[in-house]
Amino acid sequence: LKVSYAPYANENGEKSGIVFVLQDITDQERLEKMRREFVANVSHELKTPLTSIKSYTETILDGYVDDEDTKIEFLKVVNNEADRMNRLVRDLLQLSSFDNENIKLEKEYHDYVNMVKYSIKKVEVTAKNKNQTINLVTDLDNLVGYFDYDRIEQVALNILSNAIKYSPNGSIINTFLTKIDENVSMTIQDNGFGIPEKDINRIFERFYRVDKARSRELGGTGLGLSIAKEIVEAHLGKIKITSKLEKGTTVNLLLPLDLEEY
Ligand code: ADP
Repeated sequence: LKVSYAPYANENGEKSGIVFVLQDITDQERLEKMRREFVANVSHELKTPLTSIKSYTETILDGYVDDEDTKIEFLKVVNNEADRMNRLVRDLLQLSSFDNENIKLEKEYHDYVNMVKYSIKKVEVTAKNKNQTINLVTDLDNLVGYFDYDRIEQVALNILSNAIKYSPNGSIINTFLTKIDENVSMTIQDNGFGIPEKDINRIFERFYRVDKARSRELGGTGLGLSIAKEIVEAHLGKIKITSKLEKGTTVNLLLPLDLEEY
């Protein structure tokens, strides 16, 4: 609580009292703390790949690596780390554009069934590499909604990629698509590592990860779900995660079809 005060003067300019202002600064302080943590996180996330790039290039430049194969190995690490920085900067730019101008949606009429089928196709190669199967379970032939295709596809791809990343080889991922009242409900369910109960409420925070090392190793930036949430909420939809450790995770999206003028 911040207290400030000033003398109060009447119409004749005579001091006749004191005005006290009691200001609740807890909200302000919380925001400031979040901002500081965010900057610290960004710096750390950028510094980690940079340190790695520096040390590998210096080792090569100092002439410590004679053999060609090792040199190629080192350059691959450098390349991977540069890719990671690229992903991070791309995600950060997207979040900052959301922060600054709210989200500008380019809504059109599209078929959700098609969108989900294509999204599954796009991640199928990655799933096959882990011997995983992705099923689509739906009672619909098509379901038209009014939405920003690229953005919602980005959300679907992020959730599907997480299901692949955080599940063991050979597991099955189920995608359910159905219509509930005037909404589309999309559920992606995996039988993977799950999320501990204590972490589940924080999973949408920027940079929050259950296991930083594992997420990094798998190429994650820790920003995917916070971006997904912003996109879904800009569509006036809801995103919900339930999970059981070592059993699996279920992510549900509920998006209004938004068809008034259709
Ligand atoms: P990341 O880039 O780290 O994957 P996300 O924002 O997409 O970032 O997810 C945040 C964290 O939530 C992940 O690091 C992971 O710990 C957890 N998570 C997300 N999806 C799943 C899932 N399907 N199964 C288990 N953990 C998950």
